[in-house]
Amino acid sequence: MMLPFTAWEAMGVLGVVFALFLGHFLLIAGAFYGGFWFWGRERLAARRIQQQPLRAARPLRELLYSVLSIALFSVMLLGLWVLDRFDLTAIYWKVSEYGWIWFLASIAIMALVHDSYYYWAHRFMHHPRVFRRVHKLHHGFHNPTPFASYAFHPLEAIIEVAWILPLALLMPIHPGALACYVVLLTVLNVISHLGYETYPAWVARWFITSTHHNLHHTRGRGHFMLYFNIWDRLMGTNAHDYEALVEEINLRAQASARP
Ligand SMILES: [Zn+2]
Ligand SMILES: [Zn+2]
Repeated sequence: MMLPFTAWEAMGVLGVVFALFLGHFLLIAGAFYGGFWFWGRERLAARRIQQQPLRAARPLRELLYSVLSIALFSVMLLGLWVLDRFDLTAIYWKVSEYGWIWFLASIAIMALVHDSYYYWAHRFMHHPRVFRRVHKLHHGFHNPTPFASYAFHPLEAIIEVAWILPLALLMPIHPGALACYVVLLTVLNVISHLGYETYPAWVARWFITSTHHNLHHTRGRGHFMLYFNIWDRLMGTNAHDYEALVEEINLRAQASARP
């Protein structure tokens, strides 16, 4: 059987996807890490979520696992490209086919689908029998830095991105829209693992803040969502003191800013 691509083409796609994925992650996570953990160490100390961390941060170990996950994500994206070459996906390559409104709408739909998928996949990974084998590694980072954003066990890395495969078979997605979504995901995921709270208190009610996910790392229960604080509220998996803690950090930061 003749393949609709050559091995060199596939290697090239894998190389480009891996380089772009790793490059944008290093740029974004590096900028936030440098800005908060070095430049802001003293200046933004009041915004630090763990004022007295019980465990040290392990950015190099986080980075190592994030690079490994990004390699796996790239292989999965190559799989998507291969399926597309066999004409099995709804992926399209010309923006004009569906227009810019759909291009933007598809990014929003990906975020909503991923957000809900993540809540239930994350709860599944907290099942005691699954946790040990799949999700424990990510929870080893009690005091996370931006480099922990993709620091997963390989099995978790596969679960994290599995949602895109069925979606790409059903919904027209432009590769550029997928790339925009990945950048958005990285920025918001890096903020979740920042270790510093940057949002005003009212945001905590509706969105996932750094404090929301930091509490998930320190306490290991509840707080399963990615972007919107919807399922956690509906299912009662928010910590009762979450919003008060975000408020407390904001008040501390305001007090420290006064001359
Ligand atoms: Zn978890
Ligand atoms: Zn995390």
